[in-house]
Amino acid sequence: MARKTRLDNPELLRRQLIDLLTDFEQRLKQDNLREQVKSLIPAVHVLRDLGSSLVPGSSTSSARDRILTYLRRFPFTVIAGDELGVVSGISEYARRVRELRVQFGWPIYSGITAREMLSEEDKESRHDLFGPQVHAEAIQAMDVDDYILLGEQDRDAAHRWNVANSVRKLDLSVRDRILTYLRENEGKPVTGEELRYVAKGATEWGRRTRELRTEEGWPVATRSSGRPDLPVGTYILEADRQSQPHDRKIPDVVRVAVLERDDFSCQFCGWNPRQQSAGDPRSLLELHHVEHHVEKGSNELDNLVTLCNVHHDDIHRNDVKGRAAYDTWLASGKS
Ligand SMILES: [Zn+2]
Ligand SMILES: [Zn+2]
Repeated sequence: MARKTRLDNPELLRRQLIDLLTDFEQRLKQDNLREQVKSLIPAVHVLRDLGSSLVPGSSTSSARDRILTYLRRFPFTVIAGDELGVVSGISEYARRVRELRVQFGWPIYSGITAREMLSEEDKESRHDLFGPQVHAEAIQAMDVDDYILLGEQDRDAAHRWNVANSVRKLDLSVRDRILTYLRENEGKPVTGEELRYVAKGATEWGRRTRELRTEEGWPVATRSSGRPDLPVGTYILEADRQSQPHDRKIPDVVRVAVLERDDFSCQFCGWNPRQQSAGDPRSLLELHHVEHHVEKGSNELDNLVTLCNVHHDDIHRNDVKGRAAYDTWLASGKS
């Protein structure tokens, strides 16, 4: 109990530490290793308490609380593991960070995950992935034992981590485990940490996730691939459907350029993802090749157009192919 109140008084702890180290001068002169080590123990304890005492409210908080308080004080900032060691007063802070992430849903990314996410981004869009507050260079320089808090608590995360735990055990390829997990969470943003966990830490998790979009036509969106409204560091399977084979294999840079040109809205009805509402069948934007890609239609900007899923289905149902037929269809919708 005595220790708890000391945590309210950093200055007192600082002075105690100096006294202990001054006394240690005598020990150092004696040639007795055992006594030297034992006499240093109180100093180690006081130093640990001094670190904890720096965090407001530390006298009544747990190590985990102090880690969270500290991270929330400096969100979107790369924090070294050693800092968390100082404020928590424990050496096993990594376990507490994991609890905050998995049981409490705080989006705390480790250096490994953040760097792996970044490495899969095109150079042009890297700066969007972690939002305007974090430079890509800062992420790239993150150490294995660095952490960064990328947003607010997500109370659904604990449930998702349970799902992730079962999907992780499935006897599937990395890509199929990731896809299974995204489909389990259709329409909900999930974090890179979750995908990395489902991939059992396989370093290619980021690439496999991107390929689901760029190769196989699953609408797996991120901030930097056409959903700038998404929380930083998250992925979302917008709908449980694959795009038409002719609309696959569009590079992310092209995708973003088309979406930006079309103001992130369906060129037929004007719908955009911010207008999403229950009961409206429009749930995502897709890119459509005017001249079909499988029939040698190109990935040039003027052969691509942004449509909502409803009007994309429409155009395929009516089998509108080719520039002229497409222009007529578009004009008929706008009149
Ligand atoms: Zn539409
Ligand atoms: Zn299409």
